[in-house]
Amino acid sequence: MSFLKREYCCNLNRKVFFIVSFLFLLVFSVTVQAEKKLNVLTTTTSLKSLVESVAGDKVYVESITKGPQDPHFLSAKPSYMVKARKADLLIVAGLDLEVGWLPNIVHGARNPQIQKGQSGYLDASQFIKALSVPKGKVDRFFGDVHPFGNPHFILDPVRGVKVSKEIGQRLSLLDPENKKHYMENQKQFEKNIMEKMKAWERRIKNSGVTKIVTYHSSFEYFLDRFNLNLVGLIEEKPGIPPSVKHILQLIKKMKDTQSSCILMSSFYRNDKIKKIEKALPVRVETVSIEVGALKKAKNYELVIEGVVEAIENCGQFDKDKNTNKNKNKKGKN
Ligand SMILES: [Zn+2]
Repeated sequence: MSFLKREYCCNLNRKVFFIVSFLFLLVFSVTVQAEKKLNVLTTTTSLKSLVESVAGDKVYVESITKGPQDPHFLSAKPSYMVKARKADLLIVAGLDLEVGWLPNIVHGARNPQIQKGQSGYLDASQFIKALSVPKGKVDRFFGDVHPFGNPHFILDPVRGVKVSKEIGQRLSLLDPENKKHYMENQKQFEKNIMEKMKAWERRIKNSGVTKIVTYHSSFEYFLDRFNLNLVGLIEEKPGIPPSVKHILQLIKKMKDTQSSCILMSSFYRNDKIKKIEKALPVRVETVSIEVGALKKAKNYELVIEGVVEAIENCGQFDKDKNTNKNKNKKGKN
């Protein structure tokens, strides 16, 4: 082979090498681009479920608390900080629900994107008018009070839909390419929940239950939405187990108001309930207030479904009780 021929051959090889490398890089960068999904971190599993409903598989989403955990209390593990460091968006319930543990996680993560005021920080409570905002100065003597109002709004499906809208907006801002997908999914989710609302309202009405006792104020927004009355709370002060005196007062109140339905979040069940069960004919229903708290609460809709079912069970209990009473009366006559 002559020198010129060899030179031509080398040049050709070099050209082919560069073209192949260029194509490889192009394909690689397109693939990376396609797989570059937003990393979303939520503080609760219900918020995570709302993100899943809106985003589908377009984002990675994880919740810091797991379903069976009480979201008021958590220890800020380093693994949570690692997750928060990688997050493009942090979604919190707010109203100080997470005040005992989230600030340490956010501080430890050193991620400027998820700081308050940044587009990577979404406080869901901002879009909700809080109930039970304490008047005057909040004193720790009154327990672990929520100083800015009740943060358990997610248990009301209508407020849940509102939060899903805000999630859709924020995801669209951070990931405009998928805006259409987020908007359509959110609309579908809203339609589905609002249709379910009609059935939930009817079922609760048909149950005949109007008075409810709960452990913590977790159900306040739910009761507000479905026009149910809160007779009393089993805990005397937020986060503090009830005294015997408080339980006796509650038993009297339940007797006076003829209330028999107790809704308990799965992580609050304790032996104080047994005292009430011994004193009165009551139906104690353990429900999920977060996705995954109980196995069947697999998503947000099923959490609400579980509470509605629990109220129906209470209604059935009352009906059976009355039937038995009438039978006994007839028996005596
Ligand atoms: Zn609370």
